[in-house]
Amino acid sequence: MVKNNLAEILKNRFQKTIEEATNEEVYLALLEMTKGCIKNKGTNKGNKKLYYISAEFLIGKLLSNNLINLGLYDEVKEVLAANGKDLTEIEEIELEPSLGNGGLGRLAACFLDSIATLGLNGDGVGLNYHYGLFKQVFKNNKQTAEKNPWITSEGWLNKSNIKFDVLFGGFKVTSTLYDIDVTGYNQASNKLRLFDVDSIDETLVEDGINFDKEDIKKNLTLFLYPDDSDEAGHLLRIYQQYFMVSNAAQLILLEAEENGYDLHKLHEHVVVQINDTHPSMVIPELIRLLGEKGIEMQEAIGIVTKTCAYTNHTILAEALEKWPIAYLEKVVPQLMPIIRELDNLVKAKYEDERVYIIDKDDRVHMAHMDIHYGFSVNGVAALHTEILEQEELRPFYDIYPEKFNNKTNGITFRRWLIHCNNELTNYITELIGEDFKTDATKLEDLAKYVDNKEVLAKLGEIKKHNKIALKKYLKDTQGVEIDENSIFDIQIKRLHEYKRQQMNVLYIIHKYLDIKAGNIPTTPITMIFGAKAAPAYIIAQDIIHTILCLQEIINNDPVVSKHLKVVMVENYNVTKASKLIPACDVSEQISLASKEASGTGNMKFMLNGALTLGTEDGANVEIHELVGDDNIYIFGESSEQVIEHYKKADYVSREYYEKENIKELVDFIVSDEMLKGGDEVNLNRLHNELIVKDWFMTLLDIEDYIKTKNKVFEDYSDRETWNRKVLINISKAGFFSSDRTIAQYNEDIWRLK
Ligand SMILES: *Cc1c(COP(=O)(O)O)cnc(C)c1O
Repeated sequence: MVKNNLAEILKNRFQKTIEEATNEEVYLALLEMTKGCIKNKGTNKGNKKLYYISAEFLIGKLLSNNLINLGLYDEVKEVLAANGKDLTEIEEIELEPSLGNGGLGRLAACFLDSIATLGLNGDGVGLNYHYGLFKQVFKNNKQTAEKNPWITSEGWLNKSNIKFDVLFGGFKVTSTLYDIDVTGYNQASNKLRLFDVDSIDETLVEDGINFDKEDIKKNLTLFLYPDDSDEAGHLLRIYQQYFMVSNAAQLILLEAEENGYDLHKLHEHVVVQINDTHPSMVIPELIRLLGEKGIEMQEAIGIVTKTCAYTNHTILAEALEKWPIAYLEKVVPQLMPIIRELDNLVKAKYEDERVYIIDKDDRVHMAHMDIHYGFSVNGVAALHTEILEQEELRPFYDIYPEKFNNKTNGITFRRWLIHCNNELTNYITELIGEDFKTDATKLEDLAKYVDNKEVLAKLGEIKKHNKIALKKYLKDTQGVEIDENSIFDIQIKRLHEYKRQQMNVLYIIHKYLDIKAGNIPTTPITMIFGAKAAPAYIIAQDIIHTILCLQEIINNDPVVSKHLKVVMVENYNVTKASKLIPACDVSEQISLASKEASGTGNMKFMLNGALTLGTEDGANVEIHELVGDDNIYIFGESSEQVIEHYKKADYVSREYYEKENIKELVDFIVSDEMLKGGDEVNLNRLHNELIVKDWFMTLLDIEDYIKTKNKVFEDYSDRETWNRKVLINISKAGFFSSDRTIAQYNEDIWRLK
C-alpha cells in the first residue's frame, strides 16, 4: 500500500519513480501521504475537551514519529531501502520546530502524544513562533545566537480559517490559527493549535536575534522568549502571554458554542490545563469573556475555578512570575479590574499576606491566582510536590490541601525508544513481544533475563552500534573524532547553574590533571555536553566558554586525549537528543538536590540503557526507588540538608575552596593554560563566582561527586555486571511512560472519559 501510494504521488507531482526522485521529493511525497493517512483516521471526540495551554511545545521533527504512530514506519523504511533511499537521510530534510526551551516544552510535546494515544479528546494551544528559540553557533569558544526558521511552504503546519481579534491597551491585532496534527499510537489524532499574529514582519530581525522590541504588532510571534527557568521581566513576554490566552479563551468559547454547550456549565465540557504560569491570564480572560456573554462576574469566577487546573514546574523563586501592575495596566487594562476583584476576594477571606495575588509592592503573583482560582495544583515528581506542599506553597497547602496532587512526569516511548533506538526496540520485542509498546510496564518482563549472559552481551553490542552511529554523526556534523570503545558520559540539558554543569567541569579538570600525573583510566572516557544558555545569562555563558576551552586543551593534548575527550555538541535540540541518548553509558543528573523539579532527560537515558549518576533530586529519587541502590550511582547532600543550608544561610563556598584538592581544580579555570586560548573576563568571572557565591553549592558536593564518578568508571570495566544494571534499568523504566502520567491526569484532574 505504501509503495503504491508513494509511487503515485511522486509520479503525479514530479513524474519520477521512487528510485529517480531526490530525497527532497521523497520527503514531500511522504509528507503528503502521511497527512492523508492522518485525515483518514479521524480525530478524537467527546463530550468534554481538554485544552492544554502552554507557551512551549518542543515537538521535534514529526515524520518518523507520525509514521510510527500510524503503523507505517517499517513498511516505509523497507520500500525506500528497496529503492536505494535511506529514511534516516530523508528525515534530515525536515527542519526541527524549536518551539520550546527545554524540559517544560518537551514535556508538553510528550503529553500531546500520550493524550492522543489514550484516545482522549484534548488539544494543545500555543504560539506559532516563526524563529522559535535561537539556534546556537559556537564562535571563538563562545555561544552566539542566530534565528532558527522552521516554517516552510510545505510542512506539518496547516492554516485554518479561524481568526480572532485581540485587544491590547491602545491597539488591536488580528490572529490566525494554524494547526499541526498530533497522531496517537494506533489511534485517531488531536491537534496542536498555534496562533499567529497577521501583522508579523520577519524583516524586523536584524543580525543574530536582535529586533525592535517595541513594535508589538510586527514582532509578537517572532521568537520564543529564551529563558528557561530564570525570567527577566519584559513587556513583550506579557504581550505574548495575553495574545496566547485571549486566543485560547476565544477558541474555547467558540467550540463550546458550536457544540451547543450551556456556558453556565462550561466546566462540564471543558478543562484547561495551565502549563506553568505563562498561560495564567487565561483565568481573568475567560471570566471577562463570560461576562461579555452575559454571565455575572461572581458566577463566572465560580465556573472558571471549576475549569482551570495548574501545573507548577519549578521552585526557583526567580521563575515564579510576578508582573508589576503597571505592566499589566499598559498591556491588558481590561483584565486589571478582574484581577483586582480576584485579589479582593482573597484579601477579604485570608489574613496571611503570603497568599495575596497582589502584593504590597504592586506585583501580581500569577501562581497565586492559579491556585486560588483553579481546582487543581500539581507538582511534577514526588519530591517536588512534597517540597511545594511543605515549603514553597505551604500557606496554600494549608488552605487547600484537597487541590494539591502529584503527577510524576513521563516521556513518550514512541519517540524516546521506538524511534530513537530501533535496534533495542526490536531486540526487546524479540525477547518479550510487542505488548510493551502499548503497556510500558510490560518491560518488567525483561527482568527474567538478568542472569542471561547472552542477553547481557547483546545489550552491550546494541549500545556499541549506537555509539558507532553517534561517532559517525559527530564526525559528519562537527568534525570531531571519538572512540566507540570509550565510556560515553553525557550531560545534555539547558545550561543553568542549578543543573551544575560547572561541577562536571571541575571533574574534567580533576581527570585531566590526574592523567597528566600518570594515572591512566582503565577505559578511556568521552565526556559529552549539549546545552543552550539564555543569551542574557552571563554566568551560563561563562560556563559554556570554559567547557569549550577545556575541549580545545584536552583534545589537543597528545597524551591525555588518548584517555579523555571532551565534546560539546552544538545547538542541542530534540534531534540531537535522539542521537545522543541511545549511545550513552552514564547519564549525568547532578542538579543541587531540591532544585530540579523532575527532569525528563533522566528518564530517556534510563529507558535507553544508561546508568544514572545523580543526586537525590526530582525524579532521580523515583528512579532510585525503582532500580535499587545497586543499579544507580547516587551522591551529594539530600534535599532536606540543602533546604536547611538555605534557611540557615550557612553555606560558605570559600570554606570548601580553601581545601587544597578543591582549590587546585577551581584555580585551573584561571590557569595560564586556560588563559592562553580563553577569555580572561569570562574565566575570571566564573572562578570568582564559585569562590564568593556559588549559590547552587557546587563545592558542597564536588568531593562526593568525584569519588562516585570514579567508582562508576571503575565499575564499567566489568561489562557483564554493568549490563546487568543496564537491563534492570530498562526493565523498570515503564513507570516513566507519559501514557501513565496522562492516565493519572485524566483520572484525577481532567475526567474526560
Ligand atoms: C528531554 C529534553 C530536555 C529536558 O532535559 P532535562 O535533563 O530533564 O533538563 C531538554 N531539551 C531537550 C531537547 C530534550 O529532549
